[in-house]
Amino acid sequence: MKNNSTTKTPMPVQPPEERIKNFREVALGYSAEQARQEAERCLHCKNRPCVQGCPVGVAIPDFIALVKEGNFEEAYGVISRTSLLPAVCGRVCPQENQCEKFCVRGIKGESVGIGRLERFVADFHASNGQPTEPSTANGRRVAVIGSGPAGLSCAGELARRGYAVTVFEALHVAGGVLVYGIPEFRLPKEIVAREVAGLKALGVNFVTNAVIGRTLTVEELKAEGFEAVFLGTGAGLPNFMGIKGENAKGVFSANEYLTRVNLMKAYEEGSETPVFRAKKVAVVGGGNVAMDAARTARRLGAEVTVVYRRSRAELPARREEAEHAEEEGVRFRLLTGPKEILTDAEENVIGMKCVEMELGEPDGSGRRRPVDRAGSEFVLEADCVIMALGTSPNPLLKRTTAGLETGKRGEIVADENGKTSLEGVFAGGDAVTGSATVILAMGAGKRAAQAMDEYLNK
Ligand code: FAD
Ligand code: SF4
Repeated sequence: MKNNSTTKTPMPVQPPEERIKNFREVALGYSAEQARQEAERCLHCKNRPCVQGCPVGVAIPDFIALVKEGNFEEAYGVISRTSLLPAVCGRVCPQENQCEKFCVRGIKGESVGIGRLERFVADFHASNGQPTEPSTANGRRVAVIGSGPAGLSCAGELARRGYAVTVFEALHVAGGVLVYGIPEFRLPKEIVAREVAGLKALGVNFVTNAVIGRTLTVEELKAEGFEAVFLGTGAGLPNFMGIKGENAKGVFSANEYLTRVNLMKAYEEGSETPVFRAKKVAVVGGGNVAMDAARTARRLGAEVTVVYRRSRAELPARREEAEHAEEEGVRFRLLTGPKEILTDAEENVIGMKCVEMELGEPDGSGRRRPVDRAGSEFVLEADCVIMALGTSPNPLLKRTTAGLETGKRGEIVADENGKTSLEGVFAGGDAVTGSATVILAMGAGKRAAQAMDEYLNK
């Protein structure tokens, strides 16, 4: 039965007053009935605009039609033809800027909840589907460096084509930002572990605690018989502002703060990893990383203020994340720029000197440049400052791989198929683009796998 509602079927969520006391997932997911009800809103447009908005080209109307009929496992089959991590993408993709932005339903109301349906289908498959069968081996070895979405997607595509794939990961757990950055309350770690287990079932071998550039070099991997190498090492090096006081006790990069809490589970009673239990936290930045750090600090019991130098309209975080943060009591000081971190005699943070800002002429990025409002300085009280100002690629591979061309910000130079300056070496994801999104990293890993297959068969 057609559903003409102009709004999405609501997503059940943990209420804010409950969820700020735990790290469990905020959004609880659709029931089968809610999923079918939402699928009934799809108009099955002939020109399929939603598909054009999906960086990996999921056949969206086809899988939604199957959800409508209650054929959830077949719907999973359609999605998994083009997307390797649907349970992850359904949760963290910025759908409002991709598939859902182009959805015809969005013209006179809310778009179809494509991400919510994708999540439902992936979770249904996890509980009811059949394990993946390994492909027929072709006896050729390839190495993937880094196990974030770019590396996982490249490894999966190559394993499906019969290659013997070994993924080398610097950390002790596979998943990249999906395990060390994005918090449990947005993306439960068991979901990432499930996707990694799926790749192992396909025959992919994972070697963790292996830092390429230190444990082994790219040249050594090739000498060991890996015929092609994919570099999916991400952009894990945090940026700082360079203001006075940034070395004080109580100043963290969002990466370090989130890694302690997510990967090392510092929030759990008895965890061996310490985490700074602050009373008043200032988070500098306005992206998803800032929202994640702010909401994490809130769950650890702090009063939290996000300090962002532009206005709400320019906030780069997903709207839903910013709304969830506000519901959880995170405060926003918009049009505000930090100038100095203030400390006591023992170098502990006691506050942050800030200035109010206004938007001036557009800068090189086309966004209006924030400028200081003279005489508007004030001090924001804080005993902890978390810097969430973006990240850059780690320079280790550049330093240890002769002939690997990199750009100004340390990003690996690669063409649209991931081909680098080195024979048989491909790259993709944040290591090439700088920090971007899960789906773009996955798309890059997938395209590189195709190019590696062609290279190995030419
Ligand atoms: P990563 O995920 O960074 O993976 C790279 C992996 O390589 C890491 O595991 C690293 O340990 C490993 N590695 C690095 N160097 C070496 C080496 N020398 N040897 C071996 N291994 C190495 N995107 C979204 O789409 N939606 C979101 O909601 C979202 N939220 C985010 C929240 C946070 C806190 C952060 C930090 C990012 C977020 N992003 C989000 C961005 C997204 O996670 C990244 O764009 C994506 O993970 C990039 O994938 P990748 O595979 O290129 O790199
Ligand atoms: Fe369905 Fe929206 Fe895609 Fe049209 S654009 S097919 S309504 S999801």
